[in-house]
Amino acid sequence: MAVTIYYEEDCNPQIIQDKKIAVIGYGSQGHAHALNLKDSGCDVRVGLREGSASWAKAEEAGLKVMPIEDAAEEADLIMVLVPDELQPKVYEEQIAPHLHAGDTLAFAHGFNIHYGYITPPEDVDVIMCAPKGPGHIVRRQYTEGSGVPDLVCVAQDASGTAWDTALSYAWGVGGARSGIIKATFKEETEEDLFGEQAVLCGGLVELVKAGFETLVEAGYPPELAYFECYHEMKMIVDLMYESGIHFMNYSISNTAEYGEYYAGPKVINEQSRQAMREILARIQDGSFAEEFVADCNNGHAWLIEQREAINDHEIEKTGAKIREMFTWVK
Ligand code: NAD
Ligand code: MG
Ligand code: MG
Repeated sequence: MAVTIYYEEDCNPQIIQDKKIAVIGYGSQGHAHALNLKDSGCDVRVGLREGSASWAKAEEAGLKVMPIEDAAEEADLIMVLVPDELQPKVYEEQIAPHLHAGDTLAFAHGFNIHYGYITPPEDVDVIMCAPKGPGHIVRRQYTEGSGVPDLVCVAQDASGTAWDTALSYAWGVGGARSGIIKATFKEETEEDLFGEQAVLCGGLVELVKAGFETLVEAGYPPELAYFECYHEMKMIVDLMYESGIHFMNYSISNTAEYGEYYAGPKVINEQSRQAMREILARIQDGSFAEEFVADCNNGHAWLIEQREAINDHEIEKTGAKIREMFTWVK
């Protein structure tokens, strides 16, 4: 193994249980970190904007909720879980004035530290605990007794104990139950952006959409195209996830397996690989970050236009209709 993996026996729960933790934001990751840490016996407070829609939700879940400034002031570990594009402003105005020497500033993604949009003072530890899964799965698996693997990273070790804190934090959110992978902020940031752009979100949605459109254009019913190119995707991915590509291949027919080897490299070809290299290069040289931040500063104009286009696509309308008809999906 080229990477170091830590498990429960490598983590000291006492470290995180002895800290006052502020989780800033109560969205996808925020609710999962706050609730898992609380259930792991930690002293958690959630920091939110006054008037935030999440305030009542967090309180109903049994959490202490307070304004961001108060949470940051009280805490000695501050986990920043507001959207990446809002973090620099929230940090500057509501967190930085309450950071004290010896505090720990924590993130679940390296974007703002790695690209320099946030520069913490030298006397605080800067760590990351990035669950490799969506927040709702981080919470669900924890309640089921398992956990989503975490990447842990240290950008600044002022105390000399930042790694121990990071591992203990990851234990608290349940990551040690499956494995905690040691990485750097650069690795986490660049790989995470690449994965979501080229494969997991960008690549996947475009692949499914292109397959659906090809069948529909050729005159096949959209409902059948949906089942083939979209609905069955999860079953194939589940087999790969649980037991490997070889097991998925074992489970499908020889006809399907032959087709896989024959057609796959024609669809994901040298041109697609070249596009992936260019996407990675734009992540590495910071041009993707600049472009994303510029759109955020422009009210997310491009993002919203794209979101509306996919929401309006025939594949989404077909899917909604089918999920309505086939109740097992719920
Ligand atoms: P989110 O959009 O789900 O939630 C953000 C929360 O921040 C909101 O629910 C709200 O409580 C708060 N918020 C929103 N606007 C605010 C404002 N103007 N001021 C103060 N607070 C505000 O965010 P998320 O997807 O959980 O992302 C949080 C961090 O976790 C990011 O760094 C992201 O890259 C990282 N991350 C997310 C996931 C994921 O599953 N979504 C996975 C790994 C890492
Ligand atoms: Mg990401
Ligand atoms: Mg088939």
